[in-house]
Amino acid sequence: MSVKAKKYLGQHFLNDESIAQDIADTLSLEGYRHVLEIGPGMGVLTKYLLKKKVKTHVIEIDPESVEYLKANYLNLADRVHEKDFLKYDITEIFGEEPFAIIGNFPYNISTQIVFKTLEMREQIPEFSGMFQKEVAARICSKEGSKVYGILSVLTQAFYDAEYLFTVPPSVFNPPPKVDSGVLRLKRKENFTLQVDEKLFFRVVKTAFQQRRKTLRNSLKSFNLSDNLKANVIFGKRPEQLSVESFLELTKLIENDENQD
Ligand code: SAH
Repeated sequence: MSVKAKKYLGQHFLNDESIAQDIADTLSLEGYRHVLEIGPGMGVLTKYLLKKKVKTHVIEIDPESVEYLKANYLNLADRVHEKDFLKYDITEIFGEEPFAIIGNFPYNISTQIVFKTLEMREQIPEFSGMFQKEVAARICSKEGSKVYGILSVLTQAFYDAEYLFTVPPSVFNPPPKVDSGVLRLKRKENFTLQVDEKLFFRVVKTAFQQRRKTLRNSLKSFNLSDNLKANVIFGKRPEQLSVESFLELTKLIENDENQD
């Protein structure tokens, strides 16, 4: 029995064993004893995770895949969670314990997977896996790059991001239209921001909503003082600012006399 791929669930099954092994090997296994695989499908990656000295849980939305996994990986059966990763409260599985995330992810919800990870960062020391190449590259990109944006800045504020390797469409069934990219995120040792986090998120998102404009223009809604807006940083465009600079900018805004 195999599972027929369902497009609306972003199903592209990997059929290259050595790439599956390479993805499983991206985990450092440092700082956690549990791993959560998102979207195991028919378990191509799962079987390599099961060989490692960690407790693997999988979360899969497709009942047909779940049935397949339970039938073929008997010792995994009680760690197969038939849930939507985006909606499920993951503490139901791990409580307060730290865990790593891994997967050949469903590409239709890539960005949401990253945002949910960022929300749960206190519990997630490591994250690795495969996205469409463009998204993986965007997450890892640095200031000055055309693809540097919200996802890059917010992720790299908390994690060191590393683009590892590219995977061609031909090793999937059915093949996706684009190349894929494998990345690894390792949480920074000190991942507590020294600024108001909510404000930081708002500044980054607002600045990139109009990425061609200078910050002086794109951050108008913050109602900043003329004094602050005279600072050279406001003459820049968002893609020119490193993560550090965004944090400094947030601090300046936080301390501005006009800011409400
Ligand atoms: N890891 C497998 C399958 C990748 S395809 C492989 O490499 O072959 C992506 C998988 O994610 C599919 O099995 C799909 O059913 C599952 N999926 C899609 N949306 C999901 C969600 N919201 N939560 C959990 N799993 C999801």
